[in-house]
Amino acid sequence: MRLNVRDKKTMKASTKKVKEWRSKNRDKYLALRKNGRIKNRVKNNLYAKLYRQRTKLEVLAKYGVLGIPRCVICGEGRIPVLSIDHVDGGGTRHRKQFTSVNQFYRMLIKSNFPVGYRTLCMNCQFMEAFDPTKTHPGGSG
Ligand SMILES: [Zn+2]
Repeated sequence: MRLNVRDKKTMKASTKKVKEWRSKNRDKYLALRKNGRIKNRVKNNLYAKLYRQRTKLEVLAKYGVLGIPRCVICGEGRIPVLSIDHVDGGGTRHRKQFTSVNQFYRMLIKSNFPVGYRTLCMNCQFMEAFDPTKTHPGGSG
């Protein structure tokens, strides 16, 4: 979420008020904070999930077909079975540098989508590992 300058100023002022109130009502504040965490956990988890999904979609679309998240070999478009394939192999080794697959996706976005990756479905990914000649573009199909 991006804040404009006016929002930031408003936030600064309200933060000061909040801090004053906190120091005066410390026990109340601690109790409220505890409740807030529990209350917001579901919402926060959902936001985190949506953010991860958006990141994944963005990367899959970029490495998919014509900006659409699709398997570049068979055209599969169901998101859960799609993932990023390292064209020259060594994808697993590369991915292990990252703590999560989403960190890997974020790296791709940050590096402005480097070449050498493509969107594949699980079937094609498996076939690729099994027999690369079958799925390479221009192969026997
Ligand atoms: Zn496929």
